[in-house]
Amino acid sequence: MDAEMTIIGAGVIGLAIAEKISGIYRNTFVIEKHPTFGQEISSRSSEVIHAGIYYPQGSLKAELCVEGKSLLYDYCRKYDIPVNNCGKLIVATSQEEIAVIEGIKENSALNGVVLEIMEQDQIAALEPNIFALKALFSPSTGIVDTHSLMKRFETNILNHGGQIAYGSEVTGIRKIEKGYEISILDADKKNYCFTSTIVINSAGLTSDKISEMAGMKDERLSINFCKGEYFRVNPPKNRLINRLIYPVPHTNMEGIGIHVTIDMGGGVKLGPDVTYLESNVYDYHVDPSKQESFWRSAKKFLPFLEYDDIAPEMAGIRPKTQKKGEPIHDFYIMEESCRGNPGFINLIGMESPGMTSCLSIANYVNRLIKF
Ligand SMILES: Cc1cc2nc3c(=O)[nH]c(=O)nc-3n(C[C@H](O)[C@H](O)[C@H](O)COP(=O)(O)OP(=O)(O)OC[C@H]3O[C@@H](n4cnc5c(N)ncnc54)[C@H](O)[C@@H]3O)c2cc1C
Repeated sequence: MDAEMTIIGAGVIGLAIAEKISGIYRNTFVIEKHPTFGQEISSRSSEVIHAGIYYPQGSLKAELCVEGKSLLYDYCRKYDIPVNNCGKLIVATSQEEIAVIEGIKENSALNGVVLEIMEQDQIAALEPNIFALKALFSPSTGIVDTHSLMKRFETNILNHGGQIAYGSEVTGIRKIEKGYEISILDADKKNYCFTSTIVINSAGLTSDKISEMAGMKDERLSINFCKGEYFRVNPPKNRLINRLIYPVPHTNMEGIGIHVTIDMGGGVKLGPDVTYLESNVYDYHVDPSKQESFWRSAKKFLPFLEYDDIAPEMAGIRPKTQKKGEPIHDFYIMEESCRGNPGFINLIGMESPGMTSCLSIANYVNRLIKF
């Protein structure tokens, strides 16, 4: 075999896995089609370290998020990666929403996540410029600089002796006697093949296609592109917010409502919204006509915000395995022996809280590896 371990995809999850296993196994390769890491989902997120509030008890999302956030805070401290455990407020702006936040507190307790109910005077002490009748405070939520995080993973992979092939697109996968033959189209448009004992599919938005290449076509795991658009809050109004502020989510939980995120550079964003794309196209356009609805949604709890205080910022695409209107699916992380592909590990539908969970996902995947 040319490689012992091959990871397809250098996003935050693929890199976290590669960092973990390159420290254990020899001959670890990461294959990435772009010229550098994190050019797809991972560079277009809210960069929030989620607490694990909304995910169903016992789901991988709940378990890996709760475990992952602690690992991530420790990792950032160890490697001096910019991180801010700023906390978040979920704000109720009507009497009906006050009843809902009680339920949210109970669900999060099932996941081992502690939330505190706050009255108006406590809210004002934290965030004097917002409006809320009552709020839930999540002390373990925070933000992180994901670029620095991925850069550290890349450095550690190389220090472990792992290799990263940028500009290399996986175009085919064939099962062979003890592993897989992987076809690559490189940056010079040349084709070549190599073999690997273990293959880990962490290809984000096209992870369903990679799985299909290995002979595992499965309608239930096909990815639906779901765009999230953001508007920024222009200076000086961005300075009126100190932490993450979320509305009470809609009941269908397709998204958690237009919320306010801060970043490590002092920027403040509204979003992301939820728009399923008709076909799986890489559409990062922000529709300026959405400014009115973003502004109205945020104005409910940011009374100081005027229409012209916001402007289109950026968009990201979520890799959802559920279709529009369907209940939320869990992460799909599976060693595929049962589908006739031993040593092939699929990660599909790695939407939020994938970044928060990247280190616990890496540990989980490592436990799935068997020769
Ligand atoms: C709008 C939005 C907001 C989010 N906010 C948060 C948040 O606040 N907190 C949180 O925890 N999570 C958040 N997430 C989720 C999080 O960003 C993702 O779970 C995570 O980034 C997924 O990482 P990944 O490595 O799986 O995917 P990616 O970063 O997309 O990496 C996959 C890589 O595979 C490569 N690839 C694909 N096909 C091939 C091929 N054939 N050959 C070679 N390479 C290939 C791609 O080029 C890509 O670089 C958000 C996501 C979105 C879209």
